Amino acid sequence: MQPFTYVKARTVADAVRAMADGGPGTRFLAGGTTLFDLMKLNVETPISVVDVTGLKELGGIDTGRSSELVFGALARMSDVATDPHIVAEYRALSESLWRAASQQLRNMATLGGNLLQRTRCAYFRGGEPFPCNKRKPGSGCAAQGGIDRGHALLGGSDACIAVYPGDLAIALVAFDAKIDVLGLHGQRTITVDKLHREPGVTPNIETTLDPGELILRIRVPKTRMGRASTYHKIRDRESYAFALASAAVALDMNGDTVRAARIAVGGLATRPWRAHVAEQVLTGKRLTPQNAREAGDAALQGAKPGHDNGFRIELGARTVADALTIAKQRA
Ligand SMILES: Cc1cc2nc3c(=O)[nH]c(=O)nc-3n(C[C@H](O)[C@H](O)[C@H](O)COP(=O)(O)OP(=O)(O)OC[C@H]3O[C@@H](n4cnc5c(N)ncnc54)[C@H](O)[C@@H]3O)c2cc1C
Ligand code: SF4
Repeated sequence: MQPFTYVKARTVADAVRAMADGGPGTRFLAGGTTLFDLMKLNVETPISVVDVTGLKELGGIDTGRSSELVFGALARMSDVATDPHIVAEYRALSESLWRAASQQLRNMATLGGNLLQRTRCAYFRGGEPFPCNKRKPGSGCAAQGGIDRGHALLGGSDACIAVYPGDLAIALVAFDAKIDVLGLHGQRTITVDKLHREPGVTPNIETTLDPGELILRIRVPKTRMGRASTYHKIRDRESYAFALASAAVALDMNGDTVRAARIAVGGLATRPWRAHVAEQVLTGKRLTPQNAREAGDAALQGAKPGHDNGFRIELGARTVADALTIAKQRA
């Protein structure tokens, strides 16, 4: 085990200061289900850990405001997944959470930590001797030329094709959610769509957060489209598995005709992937099986298959089409 310093933050300002004092390689600790996992694998070796679990400012679920839902960064996945208002009015959000991980993990894991979970690429998690530009910049990418069945078809680069594994962020991107973050230089707001980066030549830099910035809360604009929404997740087994392909969709329907659609795909790209072109394909059209499939194909536009993952282009298109059909039945 690598020794590390443990700091329990008393206020959010404390937490941000402790991160700066700890220096590079200091990590916030929330539920610990990603961080401790990677520390046990020696993939993450923080010199200092700042525990934020006691910060009341980061808790809470507020669905009572007129314009937005507000989730504290420490809100538990299980609490948000089962909140009656979310279950009834924002089904894609609730489903993205309860279709993730296991009940034990969801009871422990927080929304802030969920957004910042790291890839499940086996070469990244496996450590040495596998080359991995994300874990060790400049070392290469074992997935390219290796087993890439679960790797990304969208948003990859020569340096990295690791999939962004989370479910919640896909639904949040479809709902145009934002996060408030606090750093040494104050507070700012980022859309969840802009939080995760494509790997480019620096796959080790995964988000647009400045070093040491703390996620305070997640804000989701209220919309009537939440009721006609779903998070559809296809995986190797029925539960407790990451997505091979997923889709978060929300619809505004006028009878059979689509007034507006929101579509984001997961499990297929290096970051949560909003499919604006697919949304345009549907707007003003009847939502027939054929049009749903056309939207599915549009969502996968530009997908680049590797060695073993080409089958997920068809799977992804069908997942989007099926999600649209499910959401339509809820309109
Ligand atoms: C076996 C297993 C199966 C899983 N299956 C799924 C799945 O199917 N779908 C899915 O979406 N997820 C899945 N997960 C991932 C799980 O949902 C995440 O591990 C969890 O949500 C992370 O939350 P946490 O509070 O435990 O984060 P932590 O482990 O505490 O933190 C994760 C990262 O976020 C940082 N962090 C935490 N909170 C903040 C904050 N407020 N501000 C800034 N940085 C912060 C930490 O420093 C760390 O780098 C699975 C995990 C496991 C172990
Ligand atoms: S895909 Fe990315 S995370 Fe996986 S081995 Fe290649 S560089 Fe590492």
